[in-house]
Amino acid sequence: MKNFKICVLPGDGIGPEIMEEATRVIKALEGRTRRFHLELEEAVVGGASIDRYGVPLRDEVLELARGSDAVLLGAVGGPRWEGLDYSIRPERALLALRKELRLFANLRPARIYTPLVDASTLKREVVEGVDIMVVRELTGGIYFGTPRGVETLPDGTQRGVNTLVYTTAEVERIARVAFDVARKRRKKLTSVDKANVLEATELWRKVVSEVAREYPDVELSHMYVDNCAMQVIRDPRQFDVIVTTNMFGDIISDEVSMLTGSIGMLPSASLGSDGPAMYEPIHGSAPDIAGKGMANPLAMILSVAMMLRYSFGFDEEARLVEDAVEKSLEEGYRTPDIYSPGTTKVGTREMADRVIENLSDKPAWREENHTS
Ligand code: NAD
Repeated sequence: MKNFKICVLPGDGIGPEIMEEATRVIKALEGRTRRFHLELEEAVVGGASIDRYGVPLRDEVLELARGSDAVLLGAVGGPRWEGLDYSIRPERALLALRKELRLFANLRPARIYTPLVDASTLKREVVEGVDIMVVRELTGGIYFGTPRGVETLPDGTQRGVNTLVYTTAEVERIARVAFDVARKRRKKLTSVDKANVLEATELWRKVVSEVAREYPDVELSHMYVDNCAMQVIRDPRQFDVIVTTNMFGDIISDEVSMLTGSIGMLPSASLGSDGPAMYEPIHGSAPDIAGKGMANPLAMILSVAMMLRYSFGFDEEARLVEDAVEKSLEEGYRTPDIYSPGTTKVGTREMADRVIENLSDKPAWREENHTS
């Protein structure tokens, strides 16, 4: 049995509610597989940390995260802390964790669960079967490049500058993550750039093509970002894995996630080259529904599945969690955010109960486990 240490950061708003359900799923899975033990160590971040300690992320919490095998984060922020200076807002905790753990690759899957296909704003025949992974470069590009800023010119007008910059090493490492992810999926990678206009992404395209030689089993294609924005809506099923720059990824990953029509369903992973990765839902702390027991816990639970797959290589267990989620949806259970007439409306706890129950519904796998 393998042991892993997980830093659990529930955060604010619905964060603690959905994290509680995710940890119940972990315990249930552990009990059933007996292949691993996840030692959960919880700490306070975000607004909750500001209230108690005056800062969104204490050094000891950062150290705890650094010393873990993976970090699970709920969500941070809320209207209570919106008047604070930017330097101590809850969201700083998130940015500091990403920076300090050097998480340069953001993975955002968007999978349409068949029972939820009508929750999309696009037609059923366009989105049915969509299963895309966007790999976004997270620590470079125009969001971090220098020079940057706004200067006042001699004539009194102003000039704003940002710089798009990528080095060979930065492109190589994100490309390798994307190729590795594609290898675990349908082995198709689309690299998205604007190489016809931007020299920095001309380099991006060249470097991605060079890295491709290490992955002859993965089919690589290149696409301009404007075309990609269109193709994602026109025919999303053509994509398996998309890899792109920080800013293009910011936009394309939001566009792709909306194909599913349900923010409460979408997990994410942020990976570094060494040290722990961080897993979190893409949604925020949903202060409008916090404390009401109606938050959808599935994005958080699916973040656990991503952790099992990408940090620990437990592919089978990850799929088990994903299948249990799908089965619960097939059985008609829905939290209010994904509810439609004819289905059964349940709260946060009951939704997780359904998933936990369906985790055991794998006879072949259980038999194998019982004999070991
Ligand atoms: P949000 O994602 O919290 O909520 C947007 C809408 O989606 C709300 O109506 C909310 O009720 C709903 N929603 C979100 N998650 C849900 C879930 N699991 N189940 C059911 N419904 C869900 O975005 P927002 O309202 O713009 O932001 C609220 C706070 O969260 C802000 O302080 C913001 O800064 C913060 N935020 C944090 C993160 C993060 O921690 N990663 C990300 C985005 C926003």
